[in-house]
Amino acid sequence: MIPDVFRQLQRHLDNMPVPFPETKSGVEINLLKHLFDEEEASIALKLSALAESVDKIHSRFKAGEITKDLLASRLEGLFDKGAIMCIQNPKKGPMYSKIPLVIGIFEYQVDRITKELAEDFFKYEDDGFAEAFLRSKTKQMRTIPVNVRIDPEFAVGSYDNARAIIEKSPGPFAVMNCVCRQAKDKMEEPCKQTDIMQTCFTLGTAASFMMERGVAEKLTKDEIISRITLAEKEGMVLQPANTQEPTFICCCCGCCCGVLSAAKKFPEPAELLQTNFYAKIDPENCTACGECMEICQMDALISVNNHTEVLRSHCIGCGNCLNVCATEAISLLKTGKETIPPKDSREMYKKMIMERYGVLGTLKIMGKAALGKKI
Ligand code: SF4
Ligand code: SF4
Ligand code: SF4
Repeated sequence: MIPDVFRQLQRHLDNMPVPFPETKSGVEINLLKHLFDEEEASIALKLSALAESVDKIHSRFKAGEITKDLLASRLEGLFDKGAIMCIQNPKKGPMYSKIPLVIGIFEYQVDRITKELAEDFFKYEDDGFAEAFLRSKTKQMRTIPVNVRIDPEFAVGSYDNARAIIEKSPGPFAVMNCVCRQAKDKMEEPCKQTDIMQTCFTLGTAASFMMERGVAEKLTKDEIISRITLAEKEGMVLQPANTQEPTFICCCCGCCCGVLSAAKKFPEPAELLQTNFYAKIDPENCTACGECMEICQMDALISVNNHTEVLRSHCIGCGNCLNVCATEAISLLKTGKETIPPKDSREMYKKMIMERYGVLGTLKIMGKAALGKKI
């Protein structure tokens, strides 16, 4: 029998731009139990998606239910565990909010993820989370090409160019370990693509936040560019946040990445991921050497009549195959439906809310937020 508080917490976390759906197996409850005990779950139920002070959160408890000091210490404990978010307000002090599973709780398990949590996370992906998460129209991440030649006839937006993103960012820059690979390591399924563990790059406010948490290492602008170049040489897929000035760039593999590996289990993974590009092979120049098939993280290349062809259903335009093709038989083309990412994460989450709840539902949520109610 699942204690009601965990089911309520699952529904409370599902009530966000990123879903946290119920599954038949109930694995999502196990996942929550790795992070919250019953008392902590009942505290998390009082949190809004918008950051609030301890006073405000305390006002939602019945008189005498919990002291303000105890609540403050429990909230800090939950933040330390990466189960909730805390931002420091210069006037109001620490402000806490609930956070989604991704990008949020899972990523905050970096450097401390356990085997049990890792196993339940990937089981949850299989049991229903990936379906709900990947089907959302507006994505949290997008794929951009690695540093390859793209025909000048195709304009490449600065949001689709890692080096332009870095140049535009005021910094600071930092790098963290890849929690997806750490999770797979715990499950004794080490990465098949790279030995590099530091492949999560953060920029600006995200870099400062992660450095303050002690999980990110500061990099100069030159260092972040050279580390990304190294990741590209390893065949990693560049996945920044789906915003015009992203605060992170992940360099991902198809075996460990929670997003790519989950998408690959669907018949048409490219449909589920955001990209403006795809690869095309000129059969005349293809010697069928197979190098591109080796590096492709999406299993998007197949052998057909003595040459290699791209499966559009799988190709996410990462550009890695271009880097290994000695005969320059591969080109990166535009999909023809250029998607300009949302301006920033606020706009991205607003779009996600609109898509999940419709206009009326969104107005209701905004109305509650304006009245200082929990959303
Ligand atoms: S999204 Fe990519 S780089 Fe980021 S943690 Fe997952 S695999 Fe690692
Ligand atoms: S790397 Fe180039 S030549 Fe080799 S199989 Fe791929 S497209 Fe053909
Ligand atoms: S075929 Fe594979 S490696 Fe080439 S762009 Fe598409 S997804 Fe990337």
